[in-house]
Amino acid sequence: MDNEKDFREIDENGVELSDVKETEIHEEHPVDEYEDVCFICHRPESKAGKMIHLTPEIHICAECMQRTMDMMNNGNVDYNKMDFSRMPNISMINLSDLQNMIPKRQKVKKKNPEKEAEAQKMFDIHAIPAPHKIKASLDEYVVGQEKAKKVISVAVYNHYKRVAAGSDADGIEIEKSNMLMIGPTGSGKTYLVKTLARLLDVPLAIADATSLTEAGYIGDDIESVLSKLLAAADNDVEKAERGIVFIDEIDKIAKKKNTNQRDVSGESVQQGLLKLLEGADVEVPVGANSKNAMVPLETMNTKNILFICGGAFPDLEEIIKERLNKQSSIGFRADLKDKYDNDKNLIRQVTVEDLRNFGMIPEFLGRLPVIYTLDALSEEMMVKILKEPKNAILKQYQKLLALDEVKLEFTDDALTAIARKAMEKDTGARALRAIIEDFMLDIMYEIPKDDNIGRVTITADYINHKGGPLITMRGVPALEGE
Ligand code: ADP
Repeated sequence: MDNEKDFREIDENGVELSDVKETEIHEEHPVDEYEDVCFICHRPESKAGKMIHLTPEIHICAECMQRTMDMMNNGNVDYNKMDFSRMPNISMINLSDLQNMIPKRQKVKKKNPEKEAEAQKMFDIHAIPAPHKIKASLDEYVVGQEKAKKVISVAVYNHYKRVAAGSDADGIEIEKSNMLMIGPTGSGKTYLVKTLARLLDVPLAIADATSLTEAGYIGDDIESVLSKLLAAADNDVEKAERGIVFIDEIDKIAKKKNTNQRDVSGESVQQGLLKLLEGADVEVPVGANSKNAMVPLETMNTKNILFICGGAFPDLEEIIKERLNKQSSIGFRADLKDKYDNDKNLIRQVTVEDLRNFGMIPEFLGRLPVIYTLDALSEEMMVKILKEPKNAILKQYQKLLALDEVKLEFTDDALTAIARKAMEKDTGARALRAIIEDFMLDIMYEIPKDDNIGRVTITADYINHKGGPLITMRGVPALEGE
């Protein structure tokens, strides 16, 4: 102890400076005309007494140093009040900042058996719209795809009947009717599911299979699809447990061929999804895409969640063609080899075997009993999509211009020209909006300039950049035949 005391220094004010062992103390400070000033209290050396020189530029008076040490020793340091920004190389972790980094614990509604029973009652069999009603509602929004709409209506009806029936004493449990929807890009897969969820007023989560990886790898955990559903249901677990999950781009998790490595984003994801599709209690990270120590977990049962998987399955047609060709090349039914080459809806003939050859594992396909396809959009369907659905793009623009009291019209030729252009892009109906936005830009810019314009007619020439739109001034009578 005594030895230790030897190392201590006492300044003129009797202040012990021992705690500053690592601090360099310059006994001989060069005398110049400038006085050192305490970094903390700003008093000059003449007033504050001898300074401790932390660096050639930073000096602290003994009193301030002592006070700092005392505060630290007593454990009542208020770091917020200390100005560390003025001290080089000293940075303190502000605990309140750390708090902000931790995801906020979101409140999750607790499961309440009574409420659950009540909700079950609310899911009255008679309250579920019959398949023809579901289809009629879908018809208002989705053009064509008759088969798909029919299958989806029946499957959804059965699913919610199953939810309503619960597990009866007779031991017969209706199996889940999860779906697999195959159709080219832009043919309305997502749109169909979105429309369906809106009509049924159930929460919907749309997840992308490409972002999913096996737990522990970079990417979203498989359970994150349920986190999205929980968020869509305002963190109400009971509501979420009756929702719909749409997993898009499901073809991207096909088993990788010829690989020796662990297939963390393909086959493993399919394996991981099995449990969810089947119906199980799953620990779901709340408000995050992966599980970690910071994220609260909530248990969700997926028994009554309807899973719809969708994908474009490119190259699946080749597999189907190969199978068909193989079948037809034997015996009398031998056909020409290129018979199926121009069949745009070859995809309709898909079988589970084809999907297996594509790379989907049998267990996964077994949990998606309802498989249906969407047709590639034809020019005719594109024209209908432009003008017929309840919220058709043309109707949206017409409404926008109507607010300026301008009538917007399209000739039939113009619609066909737009559809033709969209077909060239090969991205389905998605191209329509891009094309329309392109040529409507000028119209939306020019029309409000002139108050006298009463009507704008878009012609095929305008779409094909061969002329301008037909502009009619207010007060001019409509053309013959209108
Ligand atoms: P994907 O099949 O790639 O999921 P989407 O469902 O996202 O395609 O379709 C893109 C857009 O095209 C939709 O938002 C919708 O407006 C339009 N669309 C596609 N197919 C149809 C259809 N059959 N009827 C009406 N609109 C459609």
